[in-house]
Amino acid sequence: MPPPPSLVIQVAVPVPLDQSFAYSVPAAFEGRIEPGCRVLVPLGSRKLIGVVVGASSDEPGPRIRQITRVLDEEPALSPELLDLGRWIADYYCAPLGEVLKTMLPLAGESRKSKRAILTPEGLLRARQHGNSAQPTDLTGQVLRALVKRPLNHSYLKRKLPGSASVIETLRKKGWLALDEFVEDRKSVRAGNAALNVTPLTADPPPRRLTSAQRTAVDTISASIAGREFRTFLLHGVTGSGKTEVYLRSIDKVLREGKSCLFLVPEISLTPAAASEFYARFGEQVAILHSAFTDPERSGQWRRVREGKARVVVGTRSSVFAPLEDLALVVVDEEQEGGYKQDEAPRYHGRDVAIVRARAAGATVVLGSATPSLESRYNVDRGKYELLQLPERIAGRPLPKVRIVDMRTEFLETRRPDLFSRDLDDAIRQRLEERQQVILLLNRRGFSSFVMCRKCGERIECRNCSVTLTHHRRHGKLLCHYCDYSQPVPAECPDCNSGHLYFVGSGSEKVEEHLRKRFPEARVARLDRDSVRGRGRYEAILHGFREGDYDILCGTQMVAKGHDMPNVTLVGVVSADVGLGMPDFRAAERTFQILTQVAGRAGRGKMPGEVVLQTWSPDHYAIRFASAQDYEGFYQKELHYRRMLHYPPFVATATLTVRSRKLEESLSLSSRLGQHLKEGSPAVRIQGPAAAPLAKLKSEFRYLFLLKARSRKSIAATLRRAKSFAQENRWPATALVTDVDPMSLL
Ligand code: ADP
Ligand code: ZN
Ligand code: ZN
Repeated sequence: MPPPPSLVIQVAVPVPLDQSFAYSVPAAFEGRIEPGCRVLVPLGSRKLIGVVVGASSDEPGPRIRQITRVLDEEPALSPELLDLGRWIADYYCAPLGEVLKTMLPLAGESRKSKRAILTPEGLLRARQHGNSAQPTDLTGQVLRALVKRPLNHSYLKRKLPGSASVIETLRKKGWLALDEFVEDRKSVRAGNAALNVTPLTADPPPRRLTSAQRTAVDTISASIAGREFRTFLLHGVTGSGKTEVYLRSIDKVLREGKSCLFLVPEISLTPAAASEFYARFGEQVAILHSAFTDPERSGQWRRVREGKARVVVGTRSSVFAPLEDLALVVVDEEQEGGYKQDEAPRYHGRDVAIVRARAAGATVVLGSATPSLESRYNVDRGKYELLQLPERIAGRPLPKVRIVDMRTEFLETRRPDLFSRDLDDAIRQRLEERQQVILLLNRRGFSSFVMCRKCGERIECRNCSVTLTHHRRHGKLLCHYCDYSQPVPAECPDCNSGHLYFVGSGSEKVEEHLRKRFPEARVARLDRDSVRGRGRYEAILHGFREGDYDILCGTQMVAKGHDMPNVTLVGVVSADVGLGMPDFRAAERTFQILTQVAGRAGRGKMPGEVVLQTWSPDHYAIRFASAQDYEGFYQKELHYRRMLHYPPFVATATLTVRSRKLEESLSLSSRLGQHLKEGSPAVRIQGPAAAPLAKLKSEFRYLFLLKARSRKSIAATLRRAKSFAQENRWPATALVTDVDPMSLL
């Protein structure tokens, strides 16, 4: 008989509850368990992988279940990362177990499966059945297979087609049980070369820095050497050579024997960008990309953990990379919304990076050509230090921007053309001179929506309260929120008239228009529809860089970070897309994307030009973007934010109440509203109101917007909301909390 367990520990498991659970530790595992270790534990009828967070004050006893297995020899999470996890759980009001799970990309190392096991009764029946059944009886087959040994559920389903329903029937009869277990798998311990990260396309490092680059590198290096927590905002215009500043700073860190973290938005982590790092730093670099498989990702994580790689380049979740001696954190394109995770835990990668750096005494560099209002305001407040690269490399001018007022264009031509005469001429000229063109229309699809001329009906998604977008190449109407699609109807689904018409235009139409207008031009399109499939995005960009295409058109994907020296014209088909969004960041986002796309022009020896078509030429976001005047935009936008009580002047959070039934979402949210409004004096609570996306993926949504001067009072209100939901036994998915939301839809 093994001795009874004496040790009880607290384990955070990935369930949407704000609590950890006590488990006892069998004597065999004692001495092998530390905080940060992953353990397999039973919860209800399930087995879950949780993380040990500390000793428990509970006494061992029959109520306390035992852990099943210990998965780690050494803690998977260091004390430092455990603390970071606690900070995230606290700040974002997220369950600790879910946070810790997000921090560990080790899913590749274990696979959950279900095993079918015969119960004693099943065993008895199987023996009887074996004597009487015909060979073709599926039940008899299934039972015979299981008499020998328990089998993997998915294996059984594959081996015996049609057995799934038999297994379900047997389970209901109590003849067999489905037991969850976790299998070990090997992670892929590959170096970068094996992951197709090659140094082929990277340029050699420039020998001389510009004086602005020099100042920036020296200031950052001094901070690294001083082991100080300081945050720099590196504001450099497009083409000012920010990357070189990052690379030199990283070099400094490596020479000091320390490590560093480089965060990029999802979209900019192309093989070209990765190879630049690989060329400079070789196998000291670990790339963490979401396109990797789970085993590849866990392999990279292990390389970092073992200290083999000391530079981590990756997207949002790399902020949790198990680096030791962290001395530098760089967040490139810090304004990008993609740093915010849009599912639980809804953390912001940039902000978590800063918190991690603070604990480690590391230096932070936030880089951007168009810093977020929040970050830029932190300079005014004295929290961040500003470093500026105000000019392009080699004295290259910023591109000239021309605004085309589409209202006068229509009055003069009387034609609702996609391209103005100016844009048309400018494209033709570039084609003649063999220079390249980028065209932006930040909307996917062919037409925005389909409308009936007779009854006015707009065809909407079955699951969401949005219109379906026409995608002509596939002949279908598509929902951009839930991917529901249907064929284009021949008549109106409401009144059966045949007078359907297609309103608005998207990137697919731009491509078609280009092919008609300039049949000799080689055109490529870059948007979420054209880059489905691994590697497509890189292939299109690579082709364009190599001169295989004359024109690259597409959505915001064409605006990001690419350095294509032969591009001398950037056309914006409609600068107004996005301005009408019901979101206080609409103007900021418009300014950012216009400035960024304009920055793609004239990065080589030839100067660039930008043609900006708009129906609202007087809007300040468009005015300041065309003047490439960041400071002007910042001051104006800051003024509005102050007047209207928006960030960076207040802290915000949203609460969304969701239900498949409209009445339920309405009644739950109004009860919650009443509860919250009594007793949250420091918090301004707007709502509940139907969310702008009132129905999404078949759920009705009611929204609260919370604003307050202090984050503490917002957090307290969110906690009250969560306990109200728990006390009233709401389903776990009914309430969504989002701190510092990036979207108010
Ligand atoms: P940004 O990210 O600020 O838009 P990049 O880092 O892409 O700008 O730099 C623009 C171009 O200038 C790149 O081709 C880069 O190799 C080059 N470059 C950067 N620094 C220098 C320098 N000191 N001398 C010459 N070329 C440089
Ligand atoms: Zn109709
Ligand atoms: Zn939908």
